Amino acid sequence: MDFRNLNEDIFRVAGEMSEVASYLWQKGWAERNAGNMSVNISEFITPENAAAIANDNPPFYSLPLSLPALAGNYFLVTGTGKRMRDIARDFDHNAILIRVSDDGNGYLLIKYDPSQPNLMPTSELPSHLSIHEQLVTEGKRERTVVHTHPNELVSLTHIRDYCDQEALNNLLWGMHPETMVVVPEGAGFVPYLLTGSLEIAEATLQKFKHHQVVVWEKHGCFAIGKDVFEAFDLIDTLAKSALIYFQCRTAGYQPEGLTQEQLADLKVLSEKFKS
Ligand SMILES: [Zn+2]
Repeated sequence: MDFRNLNEDIFRVAGEMSEVASYLWQKGWAERNAGNMSVNISEFITPENAAAIANDNPPFYSLPLSLPALAGNYFLVTGTGKRMRDIARDFDHNAILIRVSDDGNGYLLIKYDPSQPNLMPTSELPSHLSIHEQLVTEGKRERTVVHTHPNELVSLTHIRDYCDQEALNNLLWGMHPETMVVVPEGAGFVPYLLTGSLEIAEATLQKFKHHQVVVWEKHGCFAIGKDVFEAFDLIDTLAKSALIYFQCRTAGYQPEGLTQEQLADLKVLSEKFKS
């Protein structure tokens, strides 16, 4: 499909997703087909353009969960098995537009590439949609979910001492002043659970009640943002802190880190930025 034929806002969001897909690949956080993204674009769908983009008989797929708050909502999502580097280069053939059904129990493929009948949304779609459902239900401002495998953060979760939310955040805040300012609530931490399981989905949802980034032990992270840039920047900031820690260790030093007093001052600064 050609996303240029939809409206200007949807085309812009597709461009933003392509740009962030290129960052994820360049960062080395998206090996093979790793990672996925979704954006709730419902605010850009008017009755007129809904009619313009409608298919006569869009294929319907049921979901293993109920999403009443998302009924009728539209999402741009990356395709299952698609590589971030391909999404960056050619969004039209590697992503898909879906609409959650009116009963919230499934979704319709609204726009897809007819030359690729097997092109489906990311296999993580239920996780993404359950996060979006919670965001809408709680009246949150975020409309984007990004999942990726940042080496720096994954590496930290191979160290037992940092498989603890408080210890992990204290380390990350202490490595770089920016981190406390940008991510003052820190990252949520989910201990290792099987990917795709109900348990990891539920644990992740709980963490998103209080955090914008959730780190999965020995796997990667999910982030939410008002757009994909915000989600990416949060991950990038946390990953930079982790990288500084490892670079100090590689140089043979245990990093000193910021003092509790310095962190307290930064926390006050972050509150000023938010107000
Ligand atoms: Zn993953």
